Amino acid sequence: MRMTHDQMYSRILASDASWNGRFFTGVLTTGIYCLPSCRSKKPKPENVRFFPSCEAAQAAGLRPCLKCHPDDFARGSDPVMETIEALVAEIRRQPAAFPDARSVVRRSGFGTTRCFELFRQHFHSTPADLLLRARVDSARRRLVDSDAPQAAVAADSGFESLSSFHEHFRAQSGMTPSEYRRLRSEDTFRVELPRDYCLSHLLRTLGRDPHSVTERFDAGAYEAAMDLDGVPGVVRLRFRPGAVAAEVGAAGRIGPPQRVAAHRAVAAILGLGQDAAGFARLARRLGLARLVAGRPGLRLSLTPSVLDGLLWCIIGQQINLPFACLLKRRLVESTGTRLAGGLFALPAPERIASLEPDDLRPWQYSRQKAEYLIGAARLVAARTLDLGALAGMSATRAERTLLAVRGLGPWSVNYLLMRSLGFADCIPLGDTGVTSGLQALLGLEERPDADATLRLMSVFSPHRSLATAHLWQINRPPP
Ligand SMILES: [Zn+2]
Repeated sequence: MRMTHDQMYSRILASDASWNGRFFTGVLTTGIYCLPSCRSKKPKPENVRFFPSCEAAQAAGLRPCLKCHPDDFARGSDPVMETIEALVAEIRRQPAAFPDARSVVRRSGFGTTRCFELFRQHFHSTPADLLLRARVDSARRRLVDSDAPQAAVAADSGFESLSSFHEHFRAQSGMTPSEYRRLRSEDTFRVELPRDYCLSHLLRTLGRDPHSVTERFDAGAYEAAMDLDGVPGVVRLRFRPGAVAAEVGAAGRIGPPQRVAAHRAVAAILGLGQDAAGFARLARRLGLARLVAGRPGLRLSLTPSVLDGLLWCIIGQQINLPFACLLKRRLVESTGTRLAGGLFALPAPERIASLEPDDLRPWQYSRQKAEYLIGAARLVAARTLDLGALAGMSATRAERTLLAVRGLGPWSVNYLLMRSLGFADCIPLGDTGVTSGLQALLGLEERPDADATLRLMSVFSPHRSLATAHLWQINRPPP
């Protein structure tokens, strides 16, 4: 895609990392060149010249910036990001080694402001929030894998007190630690919903495809076929006031890994752990309380698996929702596995990888959609694309990894980052629900273009995924 000077300039104003590598910014007054994401002081438009490569910038007599390291990026290495990724891996491995967010900042080697910026850019999070999630994840593992008493689990995971352990564990998991531990032996569990939870919005999302063969929704109950740590299974949810009762069933043997996977999928579907209150406060502070009016507790419901999201965003491109549902149904009925009770498990990537584009023509797939779908499935089957690893990566690396997949553009990639990987600060650029939502929210004469969307959405950082969820609702009647 050819971009104009103004379009590229707007990317550097937004410090938009997704454009890194597509062009380099030369600043004539300072004699340096940068990545679009560089956080240095923004140059005036008349002093900026854009280059397609580092070499071109050097040929014009410019030197690489010492803050954003454009040469390292062009070589495929990104030392600043890698430092933060290594630090996050260390936090996740040993959260108890970090008593607080200050210790994270100290270990990063960056100043506080810069460290916060980097956590926000690469992980859509703050050091404190990332540390807290790592503690809860560590505690979940210890509760299931060991018989250690709760006080020991709390201390070994880095919680300073038993009460803080309980509070955060419940907020992230919807269960107490003792209830969670019962996943070792019981096929039913109960997840408590946050007090402000918008259940009717969730139910509308879950029921959007009445003919789905992978999920079924009726009379207040929902069931979905899903992969439970390698075993195809079905999770049934019944909605009670303030809570959800879940029941796990599977074709094969159900053990703790299957129940843990089922709980993780249910927490994702419910959007537990998302900072809905934080976003609602931000919206009010911006004078945009109407964006959250009537649904301040809205969460973004995630797909039960990354494969679900990947298939869905390729199938759903360029077509309307009912037709996308129909195409998905045909693929799953023909290639998926029928489970007891009549639902179908999604086909394994290997199954889709074994198809040829012509095989999908009778199901009304366009040639291009068929090629994209099979191509992506082949990458997954060949382990070139590791779907399970994406959620543990930095958002930046996950984004770059997915952008390299043919058929996934910025919209699809951000959709996946947001709805399948749970990153908090994404915008599916070009999404008509977002642009018409912004138009309605701000009373604009026309729908904003990509640059205007980026600029208007920037005030919602680091909660742009939740902003998107609200914008999707703004032109719809309440459920
Ligand atoms: Zn720079």
